[in-house]
Amino acid sequence: MPEENNTLSRQETPANPGVSFSVLSPSSENIQLLSNCLRNGEIVAVPTETVYGLAANALDPAACERIFEAKGRPHADPLIVHVSSIEQAKDLAHFNEKAELLAAAFWPGALTLILPKKSCVPDIVTASLNTVAIRLPGHPAFRKLIEACQIPLAAPSANPFGYVSPTSVEHVTNSLGDRIHWILDGGPCEIGIESTIIDLSNQENIRILRPGGISPEAIGEVLSINPASLSLDRHLITPSATGGLIAPGLLERHYSPNTLIQLHPHGTCFAEHSNNPTHAYVSFKKQATLSDNCFSLSDDGSTKQAASRLFEMLRSLDHQPWSRIHIEKAPDTDIGIAINDRLQRAASR
Ligand code: AMP
Ligand code: MG
Repeated sequence: MPEENNTLSRQETPANPGVSFSVLSPSSENIQLLSNCLRNGEIVAVPTETVYGLAANALDPAACERIFEAKGRPHADPLIVHVSSIEQAKDLAHFNEKAELLAAAFWPGALTLILPKKSCVPDIVTASLNTVAIRLPGHPAFRKLIEACQIPLAAPSANPFGYVSPTSVEHVTNSLGDRIHWILDGGPCEIGIESTIIDLSNQENIRILRPGGISPEAIGEVLSINPASLSLDRHLITPSATGGLIAPGLLERHYSPNTLIQLHPHGTCFAEHSNNPTHAYVSFKKQATLSDNCFSLSDDGSTKQAASRLFEMLRSLDHQPWSRIHIEKAPDTDIGIAINDRLQRAASR
């Protein structure tokens, strides 16, 4: 079948009419085409189960540079490297016993391991740190692409630096369509929130650097340690404590829409307060009396559903003329911890 037949759309972007991008379905032919692009140093937006990523050959510094350019990402912010097997991960990093346990329990999945890196990993990927972030993703189309490439793929979220991460092809085309040529369409992201990042480089001081799809409780159980000991005390984060790095996952303001966000405790009932018609009100669970400026993250209080809808909600409300977006926080359990982390950063000014 000719490649054109598998192309879902080829569009001219409004921002820059001279530039066009292709959205490709994950057929074998298209996977082959995109793997050739990646092997030739191009960048490709890819679906993952967490959020859409912007991928490049992790072993090619010039290709990785294109990711930083397209995103406007500072070079001090290292990239996550995606692999299709544990063996491939072990070519890049020195595994320890705890890494083996976590990989066996959660890979493929939404867990990123920070481990001492091997010399083949270029400095641009790790911001010159001696550690590398690695993940074996679960999304079948992305896995197929990594396998077809036979190279590890560095891929941060496919959004301009600091803005809300993308969970659909439309999000990618809206914010990066004038800067990229290739998008692999894998449908909407199932989890909808970025991976949990755990630093295993110092086995005496294991820390979750970014909450995500895998909860501290689940990790604590596999490692037989108290999940509370995994949490990062943000007050202790200094450039020297993090080896010179303040990861954007740790930045106070990140994942931010342009509209002002105001957070409210979990359990707040907006029905009594949603009286300013220029403000939007987002409850965690669908509430009985809804006016046009009321929205909800979940139908029945599911944190999983709320996570999968969060970024779509933030992006779509940000494109409407609300002067303020009120959001009720999630309960602080499971992926609700990650939702609240992203909300806190989205609300920071
Ligand atoms: P993104 O790819 O946009 O989801 O962001 C990746 C996150 O991984 C950022 O917060 C990075 O700072 C973090 N990260 C990547 N590599 C490392 C590393 N070696 N040490 C600590 N954090 C890292
Ligand atoms: Mg990101």
